Amino acid sequence: MTVYTERLRTLDKRHVWHPFTQMQDWDRDEQIIIERGEGCWLIDTDGKRYLDGVASMWTNVHGHCRSELNEALKAQVERLEHSTLLGLASEQSILLAARLAEITPPGLDRFFYSDNGSTAMEVAVKMAYQFQVHHGHPERSRFVTFKNAYHGDTLGAVSVGGIDIYHSTFKPLMFETIQAPAPYCYRCELGCDDRLACGMKCIDALESLLMEHASCCAGLVIEPLLQGAGGMIVQPAGFLGRVRELCNRYDLLMIADEVATGFGRTGKMFACQHEDVVPDIMAISKGIAAGYLPLAATVASEEVYAAFLGEYSELKTFFHGHTFTGNPLACAVALKSLDLFVTDNLLELLQSKILTLAERLEVIGMFPHVGDVRQCGMAAGIELVEEKASRRAYPWEQRLGVRVCLEARKQGIFSRPLGNTVVVYPPLAISNMELEFLLDGLQRSIKSVTES
Ligand SMILES: *Cc1c(COP(=O)(O)O)cnc(C)c1O
Repeated sequence: MTVYTERLRTLDKRHVWHPFTQMQDWDRDEQIIIERGEGCWLIDTDGKRYLDGVASMWTNVHGHCRSELNEALKAQVERLEHSTLLGLASEQSILLAARLAEITPPGLDRFFYSDNGSTAMEVAVKMAYQFQVHHGHPERSRFVTFKNAYHGDTLGAVSVGGIDIYHSTFKPLMFETIQAPAPYCYRCELGCDDRLACGMKCIDALESLLMEHASCCAGLVIEPLLQGAGGMIVQPAGFLGRVRELCNRYDLLMIADEVATGFGRTGKMFACQHEDVVPDIMAISKGIAAGYLPLAATVASEEVYAAFLGEYSELKTFFHGHTFTGNPLACAVALKSLDLFVTDNLLELLQSKILTLAERLEVIGMFPHVGDVRQCGMAAGIELVEEKASRRAYPWEQRLGVRVCLEARKQGIFSRPLGNTVVVYPPLAISNMELEFLLDGLQRSIKSVTES
């Protein structure tokens, strides 16, 4: 280990407060410092290589330091680094919006830019409420949300979230929502233990809530197909379509949070497309700029957009905006990333990798301490349990997920768990060999931690 690495470690521990991290543990342990990236690999200051098993917090698509993306970024920085969208238009943000309109579900053609998933969701929530106000329904001020949902860490996004361990501290600061049960088949709150034969009691539960509360609600907020941060919880087939029908029946705006699922992660460009669902508002971020730069958009239907038009004096303007909205560097990379989806034939090549992942998960699912394996395209969760027959969870303090990831690290894999769920979420450009390497390593680590 070099003197330089040691110096960086000391400075990191003295000055950097890491997100979602107990800093007392962080200070005690030796930490990896990443210096370079190459394809699906991260390389630390000592030259050690780690396969990026979580796509750098679910953002990376084409691998790190991809030359075409680097060139697009360099070309843009020589032309313009940033100019505001408040009062001015800018080239790259226009080209990107027009390009995205071609691939988002039909009718979602109006792009409100911001810079991260949380802001995209804040925008969605405020937009939905103001829409109702302009339609003469100021009393429609609440939102229907799901248990176990995650929509970001700003207060509005936290309010529509449903993960107690992250959110309960902030309860006094949050607005209340109408919370429906999560479609979490392995631990169904409604007492089903057969994910095929249940007939989706969670949809019935949702409908009862809507019957009672919809008239005071502006919209419903959902992560389509996959509750990511909640533990890679995959919804039963047909669930999303039924939610869309219920939103229609009860006159709610459907807000789809595609921050994690967008840009190919589920095997199609957007998760909603698996069930031909068109939401009224859609939030996109993580993969949009291929993991290079912070960028997000809240995409609105024409109907939503039109509700904000009026005379200046009517105050129908959407009074919201962020300083770096529509940043040209991020937009230029996002445009090039969309080119690469086409030239690399990315989604088509992804299909066989998704099948490989499914085959491997089936084997891992038979391990004595693997309770459930869940997959949605190129995202998967492996839920570890202390006792398989009773589905008894490992106590939280045992940090089983963390221990498996520390073991995997020794084998050249970086992964980050969600509680007791081990996550598989590599860059979409991962090669077949790298995917096997990742799954071999995680499999060995699960065995060694749970069966030793
Ligand atoms: C990550 C995530 C967010 C929040 O995005 P940030 O960029 O971290 O603010 C919102 N929704 C979903 C579904 C996410 O996975």
